[in-house]
Parts: sequence; structure tokens; C-alpha cells
Amino acid sequence: MDMVSSEAGKSAGVKEFDVVVVGAGFAGLAALHYLREKMGYKTRVIEAGSQAGGTWYWNRYPGARCDVESLQYSLAISPEVEQEWNWSERFATQDEILRYTQFAVDRLDLARDIDFNTRVASAIHNDQDDSWAVTTEQGEVYRCRWLIMAAGPLSTPNIPDFPGLDTFKGEFYHTGMWPKEPVSFAGKRVVQIGTGSSGVQIAQEISKDAAQHYVLQRTAHHIIPAGNRPLNPGEQEEIKRRYPELRDFWQTLIGATFYQSLPSDPPLVPGDKSIFDVTAEERKKIFDGAWAYGGYAFQRAFPDALKTKEASTLAGDYIASKIRETVKDPATAEKLISTQYFGTKRVILDTNYYSIFNQDNVELVDVKGDPIDRITETGVRLKSGREIEADMIVCATGFDAMTGSLTRMEIRGRDGLLLKDAWADGPKSYLGIMINGFPGMFVIGGPQSCSALANVITANEQQVDWICKAITWLDDNGYTSIEPTIEAENAWVNRCNELADATIYTKGDSWYLGSNIPGKPRRFLLYVAGYPGYKAETEEVAAKGYEGFVLDKARELS
Ligand code: NAP
Repeated sequence: MDMVSSEAGKSAGVKEFDVVVVGAGFAGLAALHYLREKMGYKTRVIEAGSQAGGTWYWNRYPGARCDVESLQYSLAISPEVEQEWNWSERFATQDEILRYTQFAVDRLDLARDIDFNTRVASAIHNDQDDSWAVTTEQGEVYRCRWLIMAAGPLSTPNIPDFPGLDTFKGEFYHTGMWPKEPVSFAGKRVVQIGTGSSGVQIAQEISKDAAQHYVLQRTAHHIIPAGNRPLNPGEQEEIKRRYPELRDFWQTLIGATFYQSLPSDPPLVPGDKSIFDVTAEERKKIFDGAWAYGGYAFQRAFPDALKTKEASTLAGDYIASKIRETVKDPATAEKLISTQYFGTKRVILDTNYYSIFNQDNVELVDVKGDPIDRITETGVRLKSGREIEADMIVCATGFDAMTGSLTRMEIRGRDGLLLKDAWADGPKSYLGIMINGFPGMFVIGGPQSCSALANVITANEQQVDWICKAITWLDDNGYTSIEPTIEAENAWVNRCNELADATIYTKGDSWYLGSNIPGKPRRFLLYVAGYPGYKAETEEVAAKGYEGFVLDKARELS
């Protein structure tokens, strides 16, 4: 086994830290700030990009925009950053979020403890002294007592294995690895593959300039209006004045985010009546109000909309009626109507996507009915034999979600166990934070956490808080190792599966289930019972002296 011994760990060139954090997205930045400022720990963040920002660094494709309200999608860790930064729109663009991230990095002086342009190749546990050796692709070795993986739930792009892809002579891009240099669609024949959140956003930019834009759709997703707008006068100031109170309030909500900025706003949707306890007219009125307001108000208009197939179908039918109103060609409209249950795939926020199909230069191509056969030198060939000539192919084909950013590294835990092997039948964790067989390694935004189903920054900060308190407690009590028992891990995974099975989430195909990646075991990857439940359950474990974990202080740190 390739293991860095404690003696080797002290050899020349090995950098020594209390904590190494992998990834400088919001999770990694929050962890660094906490570990450094509140705990005084020697911490190093390793980041593959040339700048902090994580998902907002890599997904710089035209049209990229957040689907959580900007005044809520921000770090709570620093009152200075919170008060000094000004947002311009209700839903921020990728560019604005990246500028905000850089502002936070500068304001909190974080960059001095981040190694940029550095990708981790492996992380190997040393069973003798409970340390981790993290080796970069450049061959540098970092040794630490505690390791935090903050590599992101949606950061390993999925480029499907299309035959002939390497023969294509035109331009090729994936939305999750978009170049920094400008890309022009003007006058080009552009094939877009994929119509999820990324595809829906970039489609509107491509369709503005392309000579011909082919949108290759395998599955129609559900899209509801964002209702984006410039922030109203006084709105930002009021939120800033009330941030402590509002952030506490948002934390009590299932997604740790609110579809109305202020609790004092008049309620647009009751949000507490069963979808079946109202008449058809009342239901339409409530949906109309939520639709007009925008954001996830529509998804939250009825508490049971994501619980049963019958309830989900009513929401889906409403969206179908809106598509038929918008798209002039009836055949195209029918193709755009999702046959999935509402909510099984991530519901997409957007405003003008459906109307691009009224443009002469845009064609919706159904690649479920007529699948992609191969990529050729000049475009895409479908199974029917149809050849689509293209100057550019844009893959908006998503990510190997929740697990890909971890399994693509060589992570070896106790007795040399490889994480990829431990997860061969599907990922398992305890609390979505730690993994049996991998002592001292914490994960932020990992499988069986609630991260991607909530305001992910709030979810990240809660996990950072939990992890940092755990590390403080372990060090204060002289423990050098913490690892969940297999029983606790199995119980948590079973509980997450049971929670998911009681909802609509498991009744379709999505990256939530890993079913977007050929060969990936079909397992629900998230804790669905909501942010407040997740927070309460994880905090209860800590309050009980880290119940379900094996704590070790037998071996002395060398
Ligand atoms: P995605 O939701 O997984 O969508 C990928 C798309 O590519 C799907 O339409 C998928 O079709 C299609 N696809 C994949 N493989 C294909 C193949 N071999 N042939 C044809 N089509 C194929 O990925 P995403 O759009 O990048 O979004 C991922 C997640 O990132 C979102 O759900 C969201 O959580 C986050 N995100 C958020 C925002 C935002 O905040 N506004 C923006 C972008 C992304 P199938 O559906 O048939 O699999």
C-alpha cells in the first residue's frame, strides 16, 4: 500500500497542517474562515481552479444564473461581507456570484491559505498515527490531522461516451468546463445536447445568435418562471438590517430558503393546504399566484405536491397548460411537456426558454425517440440516419453528482480501503458527513446530506459548523480519530432511503438517483426530510457525545 509513514511525513518538502480542505467553493471558504479565525488552526485549502468559487468558477457558460434568491444565497459567516456587498438582481448571474466570492476572499484575507491551480490526486490515511497524506497531481504532499473534502456535489462533468466524439472537427464544449475566453455562437450551426438547468439557460443565449440551433432533448424537464428582476428600492437595505432575524427564520424552512424575501410580505400562497383540499378553481388561483410571483413558490404552493404521483400530476398538468399557451407549434409543445412526475428531476427556474421554440432558427430534436447514434466529423448522426451538420457541439449533459468529485481521486482509508471500492454498490455515509473505513475524513455536500435539496450555502455552513465543533471537541478530549460504525452508517443510509421512498423523488430518473450516469448504482443520494430535520438530527448526534462514532485516542501523534 502506498502510505506516507509518520517519519516520511516529516521528510523534506512535506507540508504539515492541522487541517487540509479540498476545494475553495463556498464550503471550503467557510471552513477556512472558521478553522482559522475561530479555532486558530493551521489550515490549507487546495483548489484546482485559478480562483475561488467552485461551481461558479467552472460553470461560466453564457446564461448561467443561480436559482436561489441572491439575498439568501450568500455566506452568513461574516457580517462585514454580508453588509458591504450589494446584489443587483433577485437571482444573480454566475459573473456576479464569482465577483461576490472574490470580494469575500479579499475581505476575509482567505487567499493566503489557498493553493490555486492545484488538483488533488490522492488522499491516503496513515493507520499508525491517524494522519492523512494528500498528494497533488504536481507531486506535492500535504500532511494533516483532519481532512475536509469540500470538492462539490456537482463538479465532475459528465461527457457521455458518444462514439466518434473525438473525430468531431468543430468546436466542442461542456457547460461545466466552460472556457474563460469568449465563445461566439454568431452565424454558427450549434447542436446542444441536454435540457436540464444548464441546458435551459444556455439555450437562450445560443438561440440569440446561432444561424441554426438544434436542441437535442432526451427527457423534457419541468420549468417554472424565476420572475427575475432588479431588486426593488429599499428591499436590500431592509434585508440587511434584519439579516440575523431573517437568517434564523429561513433556517426553519424545509429548503432553508424562502420564496418571498420578507416574512412580512403578503402571503401569495398558503403553502399549508393539501392540493386535494381545494377546489379546481382555488388550485388554479393558487398556482396562478405562485407562477406570477416566480421562484420556487410554485413548487412550495402545496405541501404534498412532491409526495404522491396524483398530487405531482396536478402540478405537471398546470405547467403543460402554460407550455401549450406559449409554444406555437403544437407538436413541439407536446414534446416539451414532461412525462416525468413533477419534482422527480430538479425543477428548473427560468423565464423565456419555451418561447425560443417559436424562433425559425431553433429546432427541438427528440433524441429519446431517435437517439444519438454517433458523432461524426461534421456533426451528429441519429439512429434514424438523420445527419445534423454542426459547427459547434455544446454538451449540457450534467455531472457525476454527489460522488464523482470524491471517487475520481484515489482516496484510501483504513487498511488501504479505496473509497471507490467501498462505494461500489452505491455511496454510504453517516449523517452525510463521515464514512465507515475513512477515519478523520469529513465530507461537505456529500451523499446522504441535504445539501443540494436546500439553499446549498446554508447547508454548507451548517456542516462546516458541525465539523469544526467536532474537531474542537476531539482535540480538546485528546482523540486522534473519529469514524462512524458500520451499524450507524447502515441505519442512516436506510433512513435516507426510507424518507426518499415516501416521496416522488424516487419515482423517476435523475442525478438525485445516479441514473444519469451509465453503470452508476441506482441509489437516492440525498436526505429529503429538509434542512431543519437534517440540522436537528446531526446536532443531536453531537450532543450525545458523537453517538454512532468510534473515537480513538490509543495512538499517540508522532
Ligand atoms: P442535468 O440536470 O443532469 O441535465 C443533463 C441533461 O443532459 C439532461 O437533459 C439529460 O437527459 C441530458 N443527457 C445526459 N446524457 C445524455 C445523453 N447521453 N444523450 C442525450 N442527453 C443526455 O444537468 P445540469 O443541467 O447541468 O444540472 C445539474 C444540476 O446542477 C441541476 O439539477 C441543479 O441542481 C444544478 N444547476 C443549477 C443551476 C441554477 O442554479 N440555476 C444551473 C445549472 C445547474 P435526461 O434527463 O434524459 O437524463
